[in-house]
Amino acid sequence: MQDTIVAISTSLGVGAISIIRVSGSESIDIVNKITKQDITKYKTHTIHHDYIIDKDKIIDEVLISIMIAPKTFTKEDIIEINTHGGIASTNKVLELLIENGCRLAEPGEFTKRAFLNGRIDLIEAEGVMDVINSKTDKALSLAMNELKGESSKLIKDLRQKIIKILANIEVNIDYPEYEDIKELTNKDILPSINEIECDIKNIINNSKDASIIKDGIKTVIIGKPNVGKSSLLNRLINEEKAIVTNIPGTTRDIVEGEVYIDGIKLNIIDTAGIRKTTDVIENIGVSKSLELIESAELIIFVLNNNELLTKEEQDLLERIKYKNYIIVINKTDLESNLHIKDQNIVRISALNNIGINNLKQKIKQLFNLEKFESKDITYISSSRSIGILKETLSLINDVRTAISNDMPIDMIEIDIKTIWNKLGEIIGETYQDELIDQLFSQFCLGK
Ligand code: GDP
Repeated sequence: MQDTIVAISTSLGVGAISIIRVSGSESIDIVNKITKQDITKYKTHTIHHDYIIDKDKIIDEVLISIMIAPKTFTKEDIIEINTHGGIASTNKVLELLIENGCRLAEPGEFTKRAFLNGRIDLIEAEGVMDVINSKTDKALSLAMNELKGESSKLIKDLRQKIIKILANIEVNIDYPEYEDIKELTNKDILPSINEIECDIKNIINNSKDASIIKDGIKTVIIGKPNVGKSSLLNRLINEEKAIVTNIPGTTRDIVEGEVYIDGIKLNIIDTAGIRKTTDVIENIGVSKSLELIESAELIIFVLNNNELLTKEEQDLLERIKYKNYIIVINKTDLESNLHIKDQNIVRISALNNIGINNLKQKIKQLFNLEKFESKDITYISSSRSIGILKETLSLINDVRTAISNDMPIDMIEIDIKTIWNKLGEIIGETYQDELIDQLFSQFCLGK
């Protein structure tokens, strides 16, 4: 039997109410020891006014929600106590519950129980965490689709297709004498295997969209000193976070900001001026900038409208050509001396706040952000799941090799079963204890 766990489910601080959650078979008996009323007689899914008492002393006036298994989040008896939000009273109630037999829950333990008791699968559990961490409406929709089981369905459908292949093979192995069953050859399996591979590749590709929604677009602003990188970042984030100055090379430290374009987050980093220099500190900045270019998902390369293109800038243009980039020609209020042709150019004046919207439009175009408006946001988003999907791709390759080597069909069946099992790991049908512990430990306390 699982022990009965308790945790403060709201964040601890002064607030109107705090919620203390208890889950386990002894929930009602333990809470009953510290309430004035007899709560054992209450019906499930009801709320009651009560007092928490320590011996004869009243600790707090509370509301008690009774939820009796199995129709609860953990599928166990759950009691939630709404206390007054003070830190002392909340902690005192928690202490009393522990004294009377509860164990303090580990982070994510309620959700872990929901999973272990079969109430939710692993993707849905990750959805719980994603809902809590969502910062935008779109990230929330994505997380809700995970929570509702829409994302799990993508995996369940795949597994269903595999079951069909396995069933076909089984019939052939078990009933070879039946005349109305066509003999299955390795080659007959190949189209179905290819179809599954295609589905998996699609899910992996779409997960890039999920990462844009969840984590934002990793963006760097590059350009030589004094072209207006910090001024542009300030315009975008609308606050004076970066120091704007006209001494070349003063933006030595890397400045970061978050910008939202139609609900999609851009994590922008303003790099130190990239140029050959003898200054040690700045040199650190330069190599860091080059590193950032490599890992960026979007590069905003700022040029000065009234200066000629330098050799370093030409080199940088070459370097970013294979990435998502936008060339921003700044200082359009000054006389033009720059001659450059490219399809990804936006002209702005950071000083006069001109052209910033065009830049935002260009970013929307480049990442096709409009599609998130109308599209159903159902993706497999966790790196854990994507990792497993990638593993299944190489297993599919093994099957294909086995088919071309004319391996016996029952050998191929074993390989296909391995793929089915592997996909089961994504929704948690097959799992390792350590993995489950590690996954749920990322949750916050009381969830
Ligand atoms: P960074 O070194 O690339 O970060 O450049 P800063 O943002 O520090 O700007 C360098 C200088 O250029 C400052 O004096 C800014 O006021 C000036 N500046 C920035 N944008 C513009 C612009 O659009 N027009 C003009 N004329 N000056 C600008």
